[in-house]
Amino acid sequence: MQLQRIAVIGAGTMGNGIAQVCALSGYQVTLVDISDAALDKGLATLSKNLQRQVSKETLTQAQADQAVGHITTSTDYARLADAQLVIEAATENLGLKLKILKQIADNVSDTCVIASNTSSLSITQLAASVSAPDRFIGLHFFNPVPMMALVEVIRGLQTSDATHALALEVSGRLGKTAISAGNRPGFVVNRILVPMINEAILVLQEGLASAEDIDTGMRLGCNQPIGPLALADLIGLDTLLAIMEAFLEGFGDSKYRAAPLLREMVAAGYLGRKAGRGFHSYT
Ligand code: NAD
Repeated sequence: MQLQRIAVIGAGTMGNGIAQVCALSGYQVTLVDISDAALDKGLATLSKNLQRQVSKETLTQAQADQAVGHITTSTDYARLADAQLVIEAATENLGLKLKILKQIADNVSDTCVIASNTSSLSITQLAASVSAPDRFIGLHFFNPVPMMALVEVIRGLQTSDATHALALEVSGRLGKTAISAGNRPGFVVNRILVPMINEAILVLQEGLASAEDIDTGMRLGCNQPIGPLALADLIGLDTLLAIMEAFLEGFGDSKYRAAPLLREMVAAGYLGRKAGRGFHSYT
């Protein structure tokens, strides 16, 4: 089966980026969200990003126009009827995702593959909620999707070899490098990255070095493009705390306990860039 039609659920940060790379790769894309306002906002972001690529001459105007022409939007799940692959990229909330997956499963054909872009939920648990769990998989893109080369392909316990092969093939056609990962909290990249950031917060909390020196140390000593505390501010300290808590619960291992300073910063509302203040100041 030649894959041609992809539906993306959620037109937010990740969904509009996923729709953009799918459309640029020649797929027909149906972008679904709950309101016309959310769809308009997603499409506006997508168009702006394409125009930026045109002005940088990494894309021609004709390619950008063609990509936009490949995208249709809808608030109606019935439009998923002819999708061959659905990529769910809606708000990270288990109850909401289970509801959305039921709506997807009720509307797609019986050959359609369903993927979720979840960062923290169990692919096995999500797969168990659909009628064909063997055709369910995790496709974890990175933010911003058009710029980031990686996608993690996560197999649930039920995922078939054919579904895994299709996910790898689509990732390649989207111009991404795929790595395959098992279904554990944080998959591969966040499992390594987030505890590293938490350790940097512990180093700061112990007074071993200033935030500036910790970031300079990791930039110049490890060739990281951005220091761990600056990265924490970029990701959002509330998001990081939620991930550490999910690791602690998911693995039951105290090595994943969140740094007390991280908790305190979140309690104070010092959430990073979005709050104007985190480990660094952004005023
Ligand atoms: P977001 O809040 O920017 O967008 C979520 C979108 O889902 C919104 O447009 C919202 O209207 C829509 N939505 C809510 N309920 C819906 C429904 N019933 N049907 C259709 N659409 C609905 O969130 P995001 O940052 O794009 O995250 C989306 C997913 O991607 C999450 O699972 C998240 O864990 C994952 N993810 C996020 C990042 C990141 O850096 N933001 C990175 C990798 C993966």
